[in-house]
Amino acid sequence: MKNTSSYFAHARRIVIKVGSALLVNAEGGVRHDWLQALAADMAHLHAQNCRLLVVSSGAIALGRQMLGTGKKRLTLADKQAAAAIGQIRLSAEWQQALAKHSLNTAQILLSHDDTETRRRHLNARATMMSLLDRQIIPVVNENDTVATAEIRYGDNDRLGARVAQMVSADALILLSDIDGLYTSDPKADAAAKLIPEVKAITPEIIAMAGGAGGAYSSGGMITKLEAARIATRAGCNMVICNGTEKHPIKSLLEGVACTWFKANKKPLHARKTWIDGGLTPKGTIYVDAGASKALKRGKSLLAAGITKAEGQFEKGDLVAIADPEKKIIARGLTRYNAKATNSIAGQNSREIESILGYCDSDEVIHADDLVLDSAAGDVEESTPNTESN
Ligand code: GLU
Repeated sequence: MKNTSSYFAHARRIVIKVGSALLVNAEGGVRHDWLQALAADMAHLHAQNCRLLVVSSGAIALGRQMLGTGKKRLTLADKQAAAAIGQIRLSAEWQQALAKHSLNTAQILLSHDDTETRRRHLNARATMMSLLDRQIIPVVNENDTVATAEIRYGDNDRLGARVAQMVSADALILLSDIDGLYTSDPKADAAAKLIPEVKAITPEIIAMAGGAGGAYSSGGMITKLEAARIATRAGCNMVICNGTEKHPIKSLLEGVACTWFKANKKPLHARKTWIDGGLTPKGTIYVDAGASKALKRGKSLLAAGITKAEGQFEKGDLVAIADPEKKIIARGLTRYNAKATNSIAGQNSREIESILGYCDSDEVIHADDLVLDSAAGDVEESTPNTESN
């Protein structure tokens, strides 16, 4: 197994995700000593020429005290108000902690649309790159104040992975209140063992996280595995480690027990990485066995191989592609909306114009806009992880 130092050896761009439970105490106050210690760790990395980004939770936890609602369950509007109150404080705390080490910070608030719409994603990337070039540390959080419930990230693990992918980071550190991934829930099973390294996120690994229903740990191990999938497929190593004690990154460098998820050696091209990491496909296109085989050979999806489309998707939206057994084999950006896709399903591409009255493209999903599911086997060529369009 590789040790931690080898994962860090070539890391030049690192995203550090900090959970609310680490930053904010039970009374709703900031754990200043802890934050100071983390800032010192970060200054150490910065001095070694690592460019850093922080994805910090804590806005709601910090804001709720001032809301004066006690321990009462918050409504969505209350939570958004708490986030509005807490975010300004959260940014100030980071600014002050890092300024003690002469490090400058900038606040970035991202909504789901900012990472899931290509043009906005590129824009956010350009802003972050410009900050990193100036050695300024972006402090990122979800724009909780106005995000609509159903299109929120809701967790900063996946947001952290999307940010890592956005800036082509080499490492993503999830500072959590658990040491890493265990063979089973350590709170329920005394025989549970910590897994030091995960090379591939297999169904067995997902089962260890307790499946979709029974995820353990406060942030949820399943969302951490989803984050690992996005990050590793983008060529970024990810680690889950316990950040509760002071100097968590120093401890990590000294080899504390944790779980590393190994980056994919052949990261997808940047644009495909973005498609691959997309959070919410708007629908599903079902294909026949012939099309399923052709896709696995790197071909485009043609209307002829489509059996039906489900969901309300528009041209340009991210959709999942399922084989005749209903297994998701790929995802991609469609060139036809759901209604048009159903109308041309099973037809030769030559017929598209006469059926729809227009033909935007011979392919429903072009191979350039399509990424195979990891289990389906990738036909990707290795391409440098640099962003183009
Ligand atoms: N964005 C939320 C906050 O700052 C936290 C989300 C999470 O804990 O992952 O309060």
